[in-house]
Amino acid sequence: MRIATGIGYDCHRLVTGRRLVIGGVEIEHTQGLLGHSDADVLTHAIIDALLGAAALGDIGQHFPDTDERYRDVDSLVLLRDTVALLDELPATIEHVDATVIIEAPKLGPYRKQILERLSAALNVPAERLNVKATRGEGMGFIGHGEGAAALAIATLGRPE
Ligand code: MG
Repeated sequence: MRIATGIGYDCHRLVTGRRLVIGGVEIEHTQGLLGHSDADVLTHAIIDALLGAAALGDIGQHFPDTDERYRDVDSLVLLRDTVALLDELPATIEHVDATVIIEAPKLGPYRKQILERLSAALNVPAERLNVKATRGEGMGFIGHGEGAAALAIATLGRPE
C-alpha cells in the first residue's frame, strides 16, 4: 500500500443571523459562519485535505459555490460525496487530523459529537480522527472575531 497525505485550509467570516456549524454540529453562539453552503469551515478543510491526498483537485472544483444545488447545503453531504470519490479510486482513509481556530465559543463540549458526525460521514472509526481547537489570542482576523479558520491533514492508503 502506498501512503498519500493532503492538507486542507478554509476560513469563513463570522456574522450575526447565521448558524454556527462546525464538523456537522450546530454550536450555540451569537454568530455563525457566512458562506454559500452551511459554511462548515472544519468539514471544508477536511474535504480539501482528502482531495489533496487523492490528487483530485479542490473543493471548489467539485462543489462550486456558483451551483444552486449547494446553497445552504449540509457540508456533511459534500463530505460523503468526497468519500464516494475516494472509494472509486480506491483509497482508504487511514487518519484525519484537524484544528479549528476560532476565538469563541469553546468547542471542547462539542468535540465528541463532532467526532461522531465526522466518523459517520467519513465511514471510518472515530479512533482514526482527531479534532483540536485553538484561539487567535486576540490577534488578526480570528482573534478579532471577524472569522474562523480550520486546517486539516488527511492520510490515505492507496493500493499499489
Ligand atoms: Mg469553505
